[in-house]
Amino acid sequence: MSEIKIPLRDMRFAMRELLNWDQHYASLGYEDASPDVVDAILEEGAKFCENVLAPLNQIGDQQGCTWNDGEVTTPEGFKEAYQQFVEAGWPSLAHSVDHGGQGLPPSLGTILSEMVGTANWSWGMYPGLSHGAMNTLEAHGTDEQKHTYLTKLVEGSWTGTMCLTEPHCGTDLGILRTKAEPNDDGSYAISGTKIFISAGEHDMAENIVHIVLARLPDAPAGTKGISLFIVPKFLPNSDGSVGERNGVTCGSLEHKMGIHGNATAVLNFDGAKGFLIGPPNKGLNCMFTFMNTARLGTALQGVAHAEAGFQKSLAYAKDRLQMRSLSGPKNPNGPADPIIVHPDVRRMLLTQKAFAEGGRMLVMLCAQQVDRTQVGSEEERKEADDLLAFLTPIAKAFLTETGYESANLGMQCFGGHGYIAEWGMEQNVRDARISTIYEGTTGVQALDLLGRKVLMSQGELLRKFTKVVHKFCKAEVDNEALAPYVAKLQEINQQWGELTMNIGVKAMENPDEVGAASVDYLMYSGYAVQAYLWALAAKVANEQLAAGTAEEDFYRAKLATARFYFDRILPRTATHASAMQSGADNLMSLDAEHFVF
Ligand SMILES: Cc1cc2nc3c(=O)[nH]c(=O)nc-3n(C[C@H](O)[C@H](O)[C@H](O)COP(=O)(O)OP(=O)(O)OC[C@H]3O[C@@H](n4cnc5c(N)ncnc54)[C@H](O)[C@@H]3O)c2cc1C
Repeated sequence: MSEIKIPLRDMRFAMRELLNWDQHYASLGYEDASPDVVDAILEEGAKFCENVLAPLNQIGDQQGCTWNDGEVTTPEGFKEAYQQFVEAGWPSLAHSVDHGGQGLPPSLGTILSEMVGTANWSWGMYPGLSHGAMNTLEAHGTDEQKHTYLTKLVEGSWTGTMCLTEPHCGTDLGILRTKAEPNDDGSYAISGTKIFISAGEHDMAENIVHIVLARLPDAPAGTKGISLFIVPKFLPNSDGSVGERNGVTCGSLEHKMGIHGNATAVLNFDGAKGFLIGPPNKGLNCMFTFMNTARLGTALQGVAHAEAGFQKSLAYAKDRLQMRSLSGPKNPNGPADPIIVHPDVRRMLLTQKAFAEGGRMLVMLCAQQVDRTQVGSEEERKEADDLLAFLTPIAKAFLTETGYESANLGMQCFGGHGYIAEWGMEQNVRDARISTIYEGTTGVQALDLLGRKVLMSQGELLRKFTKVVHKFCKAEVDNEALAPYVAKLQEINQQWGELTMNIGVKAMENPDEVGAASVDYLMYSGYAVQAYLWALAAKVANEQLAAGTAEEDFYRAKLATARFYFDRILPRTATHASAMQSGADNLMSLDAEHFVF
């Protein structure tokens, strides 16, 4: 199995050359995030991920987690790797100094998460879920809760979980049943069953902080009656040490398609002691802090699997000899040519490269907005928040769909060998598959984008983004080298607005038009956002080549990928546009009982 390399060169391209993060950090006052510090983090993080985490990826898949009477053992080496991760201070990188963090920008945490996830997604989910718990406590916890729980999570000695799903409710959290009864001491007794809880039980940290949605007695029905609680596995003593075992136990682990190294737990809460976070009945609002962190985290999963599949299939395609090139032998002294000579293999490689690098640019654009939501004037923060709100469902759903497509193409490049476990390509496909489901399915993200973000803002959030694109096109209109990109981008940008208007009008007559158009709308939006980012990338590459860069290969590959994206991937928007305009009737006219087979 070939080794994973953390794509530091491409990360630097997106961070520095495309999005100008050095200046971005300086302008937000992150003095500690100097270029030298950022470089050191990239180098050290990459070393840890390549040398410690990547070798555990296949072991994690083969061994999985084991359950024994409520206790869960993670695969060989997972616990030791986590200890090293904590000792090196990685969990605290991008968290507030007030709670023991290093106070570096959140976007640097995103970079670290991409490195970790590319090396070993299942392992990365243990610290990954903790970030969501930390952000939730930071935003909504009391000082005492921050002191007791946040500091331990930042330190990494405790990990966190997100407990939403119950057997009868996943997407529809309004019908959740877990109960929270007030105790005399101000705490609550939490009772109910949560399923599918990632990192819900394990042996890697001394305590687990469950962030749990539950209902208070007499709470209103639906989402307006949900509250949020901290439920620790072990109740903390007053000195912060781990105390008595709380009434939450792991009933079993799910047997699943992929991410075997991550424990997906059924958790039984049996009068467990819980502590309210935020106001009563406002739990879902508070949980959105967690869910938004998790959505961007899951967007990264798409990038991680695309990158991993691309790297391995590229190495294989240069090595594997099969058939001759149609245009004459390229390896005349060998028995056959390497498969990279075949146009169809190149299609598969370039698709993966375009989605991995394009996805990285989008996640970094989102991460940059997260930084901007935390510093600056109210107006500046609102601007960043709006852009982030618009881009998050696109990043989550589009990048996981294209990440899964890429993982499949990576496997396809290996032919039958891709289907055999040894190479790790089928693991990459299996691990990638969950990403379009959890943290809100693609369908649910699409409704969020079209219904909540675009139509409910009367198109305002979309316009904020299309204005950015328009400004870029206007500025580059006379740039000959960019002409093919700019013309196409302008066309897409305009069509995006027209399609939105069209659906908005139809939706006034029939609300099902929104649901019927939504996934095509989301995918169209994803391709449009990527087109903007690839045009930006082409601009940077052209400038570097014109200036006589010493890294000609790197920038030529960027330009070739941008061209491939515009010529061969972006035309997919035409199919999505046509499908979304075809209306709801072709989906809704058949009565449920007439789905005859
Ligand atoms: C490995 C794994 C790890 C997970 N980790 C966690 C975790 O850590 N914490 C946690 O709380 N949960 C977790 N989940 C649960 C996950 O988030 C849910 O499975 C997911 O949200 C979907 O819910 P569901 O499975 O109940 O499907 P359902 O909600 O029953 O949905 C079934 C189908 O119906 C569609 N659908 C539902 N409603 C609508 C609608 N209004 N419009 C259009 N389509 C709709 C969905 O898109 C889906 O295709 C995990 C799940 C798995 C498998």
